[in-house]
Amino acid sequence: MSEERPQLIVDGKRLDGRDFDELRPIKIEAGVLRRADGSCYLEMGRNKIIAAVYGPREVHPRHLQDPSRAVIRYRYNMAPFSVEERKRPGPDRRSIEISKVSREAFEPIIMKELFPRSGIDVFVEVLQADAGTRTACLNAASVALVDAGVAMKGIITAVAVAKVDGQLVLDPMKEEDNFGEADVPFAFLIRNSRIESIALLQMDGRMTVDEVKKGLQMAKRGAMQIYEMQRDAIMRKYHTEEVE
Ligand code: ADP
Repeated sequence: MSEERPQLIVDGKRLDGRDFDELRPIKIEAGVLRRADGSCYLEMGRNKIIAAVYGPREVHPRHLQDPSRAVIRYRYNMAPFSVEERKRPGPDRRSIEISKVSREAFEPIIMKELFPRSGIDVFVEVLQADAGTRTACLNAASVALVDAGVAMKGIITAVAVAKVDGQLVLDPMKEEDNFGEADVPFAFLIRNSRIESIALLQMDGRMTVDEVKKGLQMAKRGAMQIYEMQRDAIMRKYHTEEVE
């Protein structure tokens, strides 16, 4: 790597002026696509994400049908123009991995038994990337699934914690992700406004056990803030529909 490593924490603040436990600005809008059953546009800092949900609907090819439950498919994709240097279009190892772990996060919470033989397709498109796209996509996909009316045991809310210059920080942006010591994306299942379990936990880099425990608490507090915004977005959508 030719890029010089910048100092990431200056006078107790992060490069973008945030406190250690502060999220990037978040914007969420539900129901932005006409043809999808459910959809969401989400910004988390400089990340810009569109999620679209189709289904429950008939599965094609048919041999993929499961007679006892719905099949969930999740496709994470980064647009070629979403990063500084053009990304080669199409799936790569990274997007296949992110699609897999994201689908696994949703598998236990979607009430699949209610929709035998059917499929629920979740598409997430990263229009602009600035680190933390898998977590931003999970947040958008959650809102789109609720918007589609898919029965779920709760909602998924996700955020990463990183270690930069020896300090734990919430919701790392690109420079912190690139030059930090560790990056730990978390996703939680939230039910009745309470965190019930961890739906996804990955780790890139190294942290001590104590740091992971502290990071988990930091992520939980951040997730509850995001959850409120997801809820607001859904309420706004239904309120608007009533008025129209
Ligand atoms: P996440 O986006 O979930 O943090 P990574 O840690 O793998 O996932 O990626 C961190 C960031 O690196 C991405 O959000 C994106 O800004 C950048 N990035 C990932 N893949 C590419 C790529 N192929 N080309 C350029 N930048 C990329």
